[in-house]
Amino acid sequence: MVGRSLFENTLKRVLEAAEHLDLDPSVLEKLKQALEMTQARLSIRMDDGSTKSFLAFRCRYDDSLGPTKGGIRYHPQVNADEVMALALMMTSKCAVMDLPFGGAKGGVKVEPRSLSNTELERLARAYIRAFARVIGPDRDIPAPDVATNEWTMAWMMDEYSTIVGKRTPSMITGKPVVLGGSLGRDDATARGGYNIMKHKADTLGLKRGHRVVIVGVGNAGKHMAQLLAADGYKIVGAGDSKGAVHVQDGLDIGELLAAKRHGSVTSIAGSAGVSEIPRDALLAVECEILVLAGIENTVHEGNAGSIKARLIVELANGPITPEADEILSAMDVVILPDILANAGGVTVSYFEWVQNRQGERWTLEQVHERLKTAMEREADAVWAYARDKNITLRTAAYVLALSRIAAAMEALDVEE
Ligand code: GLU
Repeated sequence: MVGRSLFENTLKRVLEAAEHLDLDPSVLEKLKQALEMTQARLSIRMDDGSTKSFLAFRCRYDDSLGPTKGGIRYHPQVNADEVMALALMMTSKCAVMDLPFGGAKGGVKVEPRSLSNTELERLARAYIRAFARVIGPDRDIPAPDVATNEWTMAWMMDEYSTIVGKRTPSMITGKPVVLGGSLGRDDATARGGYNIMKHKADTLGLKRGHRVVIVGVGNAGKHMAQLLAADGYKIVGAGDSKGAVHVQDGLDIGELLAAKRHGSVTSIAGSAGVSEIPRDALLAVECEILVLAGIENTVHEGNAGSIKARLIVELANGPITPEADEILSAMDVVILPDILANAGGVTVSYFEWVQNRQGERWTLEQVHERLKTAMEREADAVWAYARDKNITLRTAAYVLALSRIAAAMEALDVEE
């Protein structure tokens, strides 16, 4: 069980990192509180004529480094504490990547699979009507997150443009390419993590043929499976919210993607060498690399000890609790921390925002090249902190982030 809330866990990591820096106390005082938290009730007409209401949030955590940035998620467990925690993680993530953005997050407490496409459209538009005062291209820029996608972003951009009376693509990222989205945004979260794995392959002892387990085959997990399989890694286990499979000789990626189109990875169970296993058993599957691409608190003190992998890549936000971190560290498991490992998504979101503001369209090669350069540069910076201060990669990533946020706060705070 998780004792502390997600926000408390996240703040704990920030405060631990702060011990390695000589910060002005006012910096930490600011970082303990969100800049702005807005809650709204979204009431929409359902297809059957009835009206339903959903609780929604947008949290702008800190804007010292620039306009705030972060996704919007649809999930039945969305709550104020979670949104605030994720907004603090976004603040740190944008700082780790040296992007000119602060951090934010939004969410709607809803089971999206229970809504039709037209109901989803009304929900997306209602979200923007409720939060139009908070967001904007120079204030707060949303993006996709759990269970939202490019179509959600298209409806949101259209609604916002109607409200302000001018077409405003730069108010949101992760849009369809035809509406000003960036090439390469779709697989950017996975690609950024993959770039770091390639760049640090020798240090991490990674080799082709190594076995990989993917927990959470969704937006990010699916692309990571594709990138790793194409590079000769063997996907021996995969799971999503419905169940999990163990694959003796490595998963066929075409089959995996087809299974996802049918709803779940479990639909390939029964093919040769593929067996369905309980979701809980997935973490304990023998492998070298574990990719956590689902949701927060997947690994906790109750199951961390069963992990066999030597390397964990956090494509989700907050998938490991601090208690589990300690257990894994005692087991010598290396963790590529979320605020670095999954930062490829927001980095290409930044590229999208820049293209929109300049009326440019970059080629896929340009996006891939710039993403790779950014990921390698900041991975090197995180590794250097970890080595110099003898701390984990996670603490090092927070130290790097905090040093940048603090410098911005101090620069804003200079007395005349
Ligand atoms: N939701 C993604 C994240 O957690 C992307 C955010 C963005 O692109 O603004 O990093």
